[in-house]
Amino acid sequence: MAMNSTAVVVARDAASIGKHVTVQGWVRTRRDSKGGFSFIELNDGSCLKNLQVIADGNLPNYQSEILKLAPGCSVSIEGDIVKSGGGGQATEMKAASITVHGWADPELYPLQKKHHTLEKLREWAHLRPRTNTIGAVLRVRNRITRSIHDFFQDEGFLYVQTPIITASDCEGAGSMFHVTTKDPMFRVTSKNLDKVIDPEAPDFFGKPTYLTVSGQLEGEILASALGKIYTFGPTFRAENSNTTRHLSEFWMIEPEAAFFDLTANMDLAERFLKRIVKDAMTHCADDLAFFAEHVEKSLPEVLKNVAEKPFQRVTYTDAVNILLQSKQTFEYPVQWGIDLQTEHERYLTEQHFKSPVIVTDYPKAIKAFYMRQNDDGKTVRAMDILVPRIGEIIGGSQREERLDVLTARMKEMKLNEKDYWWYLDLRRFGTVPHSGFGLGLERMVQFVTGMGNIRDVIPFPRAPGSAEF
Ligand code: ATP
Ligand code: MN
Repeated sequence: MAMNSTAVVVARDAASIGKHVTVQGWVRTRRDSKGGFSFIELNDGSCLKNLQVIADGNLPNYQSEILKLAPGCSVSIEGDIVKSGGGGQATEMKAASITVHGWADPELYPLQKKHHTLEKLREWAHLRPRTNTIGAVLRVRNRITRSIHDFFQDEGFLYVQTPIITASDCEGAGSMFHVTTKDPMFRVTSKNLDKVIDPEAPDFFGKPTYLTVSGQLEGEILASALGKIYTFGPTFRAENSNTTRHLSEFWMIEPEAAFFDLTANMDLAERFLKRIVKDAMTHCADDLAFFAEHVEKSLPEVLKNVAEKPFQRVTYTDAVNILLQSKQTFEYPVQWGIDLQTEHERYLTEQHFKSPVIVTDYPKAIKAFYMRQNDDGKTVRAMDILVPRIGEIIGGSQREERLDVLTARMKEMKLNEKDYWWYLDLRRFGTVPHSGFGLGLERMVQFVTGMGNIRDVIPFPRAPGSAEF
């Protein structure tokens, strides 16, 4: 059945006029005409828009079924695609037969025509993909994941997988979820004495393990052999940050390239973001038009800007001076040495530069041990890319490839060299200058769609106190 069916996105195209096809999906609305026939708006997720189907009163199940179709019912409809009489669409379908697969009781089905808030829809994560907004988000998200692979494959990067369970903590990246088979809820009773585990006994992996916060350190291993690699996988942060830009589980893309200095790294990141935005503008035009109309008016201008204009580049020190001279009052006061907060990042990209901006050379005290130290003794070769509405979308750096400098820094930061023996080996044997960065997929989807809350750009968001579905 499904094998021969035609997607609505195809049936809506003028090239389908004259074809006899089957379409399958979910009813959005039914409208009955005085002339004794009905209009059915059918959506199958293949595009934002619906297919208008005309169901004639002569159809055998017109009275018994078609007149009972309501939002959410699932159907297969066979018929002819004809030129549409009405405006707004090129084609419509004249139904020859309609099979109902599943009813949706209008008294109970939550997604009626009335508008629901995004907060409310989050409680119905099992049904919200059927809404225009979340459907559009998920199509754009799909396109972005495709562009990510296309971009890196075209640039000669190898796609590699780094572990999800890890014993290394990519110091500084964020708090971690512990992975253990020991049950912290276990309470001894008279009936389960045989199941008591000695709390001193070794855990499953024989050492503490965590859900990964970043594949970078393992990515460096692979770049030190394969040259240019990227990872793209789930990432976990146990921070208790209830913001519109943080998830506990998100997807991160992390390229790592041997023989790349920070400038090559920035150039790569800029080409990368431009490619994603351009592809979305080309392939998701309808969905982006929807977001521009209903979600974020400035979207077309902001996206065009990113696609076409060169990103601004500024050192952290200059950025701090810009903020100090801005006469803006910030909630979090600015002084050299602070970690830039979202309000600072947004001022720089939205008000001052009015374009994406790459901030480089941050104070070493606020950055991770592995970032390459500058000769000034104070800063490291870090870079963050800031974009309007979001703030930081990419964080990256050139890595410290000099063994003596790296171990001295680790000592200063009280890190145990033994825990990083393999990481240091990369500097002992054939070390090379190398760089990489991390992009959070969901921040990118937020940026391209204009969606305000990161929980609405992933099908099943994980956040503090929330792991439904
Ligand atoms: P922020 O300061 O915004 O919390 P970060 O500096 O902790 O981010 P990095 O460790 O540099 O983030 O991670 C690289 C990228 O991963 C970020 O630039 C961002 O796009 C994304 N990212 C980081 N944390 C989260 C999160 N909790 N939820 C979603 N995306 C995230
Ligand atoms: Mn960062």
